[in-house]
Amino acid sequence: MRVGDFPPDVQPHLIPAPGGDYQYECLSCGEHFGIDQLLYTCPECGSVLLIQDREWDRLKSIPGTMWRRIFDCRGMLSVPALRGIYRFHELLGSILPLEDIVYLGEGQTPVIAANERLSLWAGIPLHFKNDGQNPSASFKDRGMASAFSYLSYLIRKRGLTDVLAICASTGDTSASAALYASYLVQGVKSAVLLPQGKVTPQQLGQPLGSGASVIEIPGVFDDCMKVVEHLSEHYAVALMNSKNAWRILGQESYSFEIAQWFEYDVRQLVIVVPIGNAGNITAVLQGFLKLLDLGIIDGLPTVLGVQSHHANPVFLYYLEPDRSRRAFRPVDVKPSVAQAAMIGNPVSMPRVAHLVERYRRIAGDEGFQVLEVTEQEIMDAMLLANRNGHISCTQGGECLAGIRRAVQERRIDPRSAAVLDATAHALKFAVFQEKYFSDSFEPEYEVTPRKELQNRPHLIAPPEGIPRPSQGAPLDASDFQRFLRYSGSEIARLLGLKPR
Ligand SMILES: *Cc1c(COP(=O)(O)O)cnc(C)c1O
Ligand SMILES: [Zn+2]
Repeated sequence: MRVGDFPPDVQPHLIPAPGGDYQYECLSCGEHFGIDQLLYTCPECGSVLLIQDREWDRLKSIPGTMWRRIFDCRGMLSVPALRGIYRFHELLGSILPLEDIVYLGEGQTPVIAANERLSLWAGIPLHFKNDGQNPSASFKDRGMASAFSYLSYLIRKRGLTDVLAICASTGDTSASAALYASYLVQGVKSAVLLPQGKVTPQQLGQPLGSGASVIEIPGVFDDCMKVVEHLSEHYAVALMNSKNAWRILGQESYSFEIAQWFEYDVRQLVIVVPIGNAGNITAVLQGFLKLLDLGIIDGLPTVLGVQSHHANPVFLYYLEPDRSRRAFRPVDVKPSVAQAAMIGNPVSMPRVAHLVERYRRIAGDEGFQVLEVTEQEIMDAMLLANRNGHISCTQGGECLAGIRRAVQERRIDPRSAAVLDATAHALKFAVFQEKYFSDSFEPEYEVTPRKELQNRPHLIAPPEGIPRPSQGAPLDASDFQRFLRYSGSEIARLLGLKPR
């Protein structure tokens, strides 16, 4: 549709003009810094940053009800730059001119209501938001679209050349960064650092296919992260991890889309998010707080973070109810099927601590919760979800296991409905399904496959004397008939088919 096709009062707002005054804000010392350079940590105290719009309050001159209409109408415009996360331009990147926006089809992922069987199992009506249906098959594309749009703005405005975009990754960050870098071409190359043997073959194939330099590092993700931080301190590189506050901005779109899907009434929702490096939960909290501040929603949903017992530093942190006695301690991770969240020292922990205080002041203590689940629960839940029509990765399984536990432990209002983040596509984590189905989990995972959830192919193997077709040696008609009769009766026996 064209701008002229919409109601006259909405028309002037549909194509956003660049506006606002962005700056980095240090969460520890409170200093502010200009955004004309890429900063990752505070030059004064080394803490992580968030991006703030100094002219945010100008957005309040438009009522929340009008914002809703603007966002809803924008979804129908044939303007690629406004089709993805920048439908919410004013909330997550208002300084960017549309010409700098990189759009590869990210965002606007579907929300799929679970069938009755799965909802009954979980004890609550639930939905999966399929962020695996982003272009590189994980939610990371939301943040990457933001970080690369900003980079392309810097390149054009400041004439940067030979930019090397670099990141450490549990697999999906690198797939996403490599994809966006390969699209930008002009002046941008990418290099990704992966913990050797700790990403799935699909995740390794993605940056290779996009033409990135792929570097494998011994150890786990937390070690990779330190190497990348060292590089970003000593060399001219653009860091694409969620330490980069532009990533957080783009990922806020996840909350905006949920609000939009549920017609801006989110008070009865429980938003379930797996926590790894804690960038995503940061963005989800910040996203809903922004919507509330502009009157686009009139109450906050409950946010439930979930961790595996093999990588649970955030869970342990919030176990201590007394704020003044809470102390963050990194943990040594153990092998986890929720491999994308297998992180012992989350970079965004200071952001989480900061935002949770704000969130809880408004939504109460139960408005933000974290719980842990076992590896067994994660695998069983993922397989069950996918046997009920979903395409969930292991981290989505972690969310399902988490909400079920939260219901059983009576932590949430039973009249709520849950929205679970299927953060990546099931296919990326197929190796864990394979381990489960073939009984080949290494003992450290502590997963024992349950027979009723296993599945394997059945091979039709004609015995001696029954002809079998093979490539390049076709059977003659009567031999093929014998093969057909044999395989037909075998399959009928296997499936219990009745003659017609
Ligand atoms: C990165 C990632 C996570 C963890 O998100 P954080 O922002 O690091 O907490 C979870 N699931 C998938 C599929 C991921 O790629
Ligand atoms: Zn500081």
